Amino acid sequence: MSRADAEGSQPPIDLRSDTVTRPSAGMRRAMADAEVGDDVYAEDPSLNRLERRVAELLGHESGLFCPTGSMSNMLGIGVLVPRGKEVLCDAQAHIARAELGGHAAWFGVTMRTWFTPDGVAPVDFLQTLATADAGPYLVSTAAIALENTHNFSGGRVQPIAALQAISEFARGAGIAMHLDGARLWNAHAATGVPLATYGRLFDTVSVCFSKGLGAPVGSMLVGPAGVIDRARVLRKRLGGGMRQAGILAAACDYALDHELPRLAQDHEAAAAFAEAVGTQAPEAIDPAGVQSNIVRLDTGALPAVELVERARGRGVRISAMGTAVARAVTHRDVSTADARRAGTIIGELLVADRH
Ligand SMILES: *Cc1c(COP(=O)(O)O)cnc(C)c1O
Repeated sequence: MSRADAEGSQPPIDLRSDTVTRPSAGMRRAMADAEVGDDVYAEDPSLNRLERRVAELLGHESGLFCPTGSMSNMLGIGVLVPRGKEVLCDAQAHIARAELGGHAAWFGVTMRTWFTPDGVAPVDFLQTLATADAGPYLVSTAAIALENTHNFSGGRVQPIAALQAISEFARGAGIAMHLDGARLWNAHAATGVPLATYGRLFDTVSVCFSKGLGAPVGSMLVGPAGVIDRARVLRKRLGGGMRQAGILAAACDYALDHELPRLAQDHEAAAAFAEAVGTQAPEAIDPAGVQSNIVRLDTGALPAVELVERARGRGVRISAMGTAVARAVTHRDVSTADARRAGTIIGELLVADRH
């Protein structure tokens, strides 16, 4: 039997995304036992409790449970940005690249982007870009949106000092702040900065339970009570009012208790993966860029889609994010040992292509 066959007979090591995680037995039990009611009538006790818990955790007044992070981003920006005004964000932001134009399609929001490799703009550059009241000839800036950790740059943690400087500028200029915190949990695990310290820098924050926290479904938008009340109306208008959603809330609640404390392990696994790739193919990895559970690979002359196909043949699944950029994401269902093994295989494939 060839080595490829031997590897192929084991279940693949799936590093495409942390969204592939499946609910654990404990989480499924918590879901089965959840106390529920009709959430459109605000009568689901599990969901009401979760909305209060997450708002408080992030230093905010109110929370709104959403089926996806795309929806909670759209609702946050939809309430902060009036029709025809703009949100500023970086060119690789999930809201700009991966939400299919929903902000414009549903809420008339326009977007203007900046580009930096790690998604953080220096505050003095933002000061030249943003104008709260641009008068009758130019688009006025209503909000700035940041992403932490930053997905498409490879899970970069945004430095708290940079976030503070941007928030201070925006507030002084009458511009709202939205955080796409799909993986804010990972930023918190990597830095120890309290979630509320991050949260209070923003008017609205979106977080996901369906990534590294391992819940099957669920995101949350938090913000001031008045803002969240308006977002609740928009959610219903989009058809996002849910009924016995406490079943899902129970999974998210369980995730905060049992999965949030273990996220640092995913970061260790990502570091092990990156090290295994880097010892063979150092030019594919920026070791300083590996800050959380996402590893960005520069595939060089080998097209990323080709690397993805070859890796699949060797029992490792990763994603192509650009012509020469691939991404691997560690999560609860991949051990550090498996991540290292996957890194060795990816390193071999990258090196083999050069000979
Ligand atoms: C996954 C993700 C989201 C939300 O995605 P959904 O699939 O809609 O839940 C938002 N922002 C970032 C950065 C993400 O990685």
